[in-house]
Amino acid sequence: MRVYKESAQMGREEITPEELELINMYAKSPLTAQQVFTFSLLLCDNEIDRDGECFPIPSLERLCELLPGTTGITDHSWSASNQIARVYRAEVVKDPAKQTSYGEEYAYLKAWAYMLDTEANGEIIAQIKGGIKKEVSIGCSVKTVECSICSRPIGENGCPHIRGQEYDGTVCRGLLKEPEDVYEWSFVAVPSQTEAGVMKRFAPSDCGTFKEYVERSGREDFIVQYEGLRKRAKLGDEYIESVKKEVIKLGLLSGMWHEDTALANAAGKLDFSELMSLKTAFEKRVDELYPPESQLYRESRELKKSVPETEFMV
Ligand SMILES: [Zn+2]
Repeated sequence: MRVYKESAQMGREEITPEELELINMYAKSPLTAQQVFTFSLLLCDNEIDRDGECFPIPSLERLCELLPGTTGITDHSWSASNQIARVYRAEVVKDPAKQTSYGEEYAYLKAWAYMLDTEANGEIIAQIKGGIKKEVSIGCSVKTVECSICSRPIGENGCPHIRGQEYDGTVCRGLLKEPEDVYEWSFVAVPSQTEAGVMKRFAPSDCGTFKEYVERSGREDFIVQYEGLRKRAKLGDEYIESVKKEVIKLGLLSGMWHEDTALANAAGKLDFSELMSLKTAFEKRVDELYPPESQLYRESRELKKSVPETEFMV
């Protein structure tokens, strides 16, 4: 399944001859130190994220092996034009002075990337040099999200646990295990006052339907939202059906259409706003043919109006 994780740390790095040698392993033609701009990124760590998930250290180590050579983009859209940077080195950095919230040694995946120091890249280079905070994300696929309590795939095969909930004093974590591929990393400039958004898109690639995708996510709030949307969509469908029926009725009544099957076919092909326009046109014609207010009705209404309002007051 595919996961995205975001962090918000990157900084400028100096180029040493050793670094340049590594960079040139990926360059089509040898580059000089003047032609490249290098920077580092904290891509992910082993702390629990907002979704109650984390990369255990072995997963960070596997990602570290997969990262070199991958290209970075300036947003999540995957087109060649915005693949502007490439990772040439990665390292799992452990910080013995710091612990995760679940009591393990803190570790993070740091990557070094380069981009060509060209005019086209000028703006993003200036932003990195200027220390503008960046949202950095990694998109990768992992074999499984394992429950930290029962070691089964979370939410599946009888695992009753929910990420982020406490069971006998232990918070259930989704362990992102066995990374298989890093398919994207990216960064976008964000205003410095904005809190770093931690965003992750869970996207099991083998889900056949959206419903399955939602169910497999194991997120109860997603399932509740999905059910709500499904009910509302059903009501919407029923409403559109009723409008279609009304359009057919009005079409025949107006004399503008003579055959209900042809009209049903036509109505079936229209989108909602077209359907409403047709309904309005038919209504107008029907109103002309059959004025909605008879003289008698109008008179009786005017009579009602003349009744003093005070009469209704208690
Ligand atoms: Zn479990």
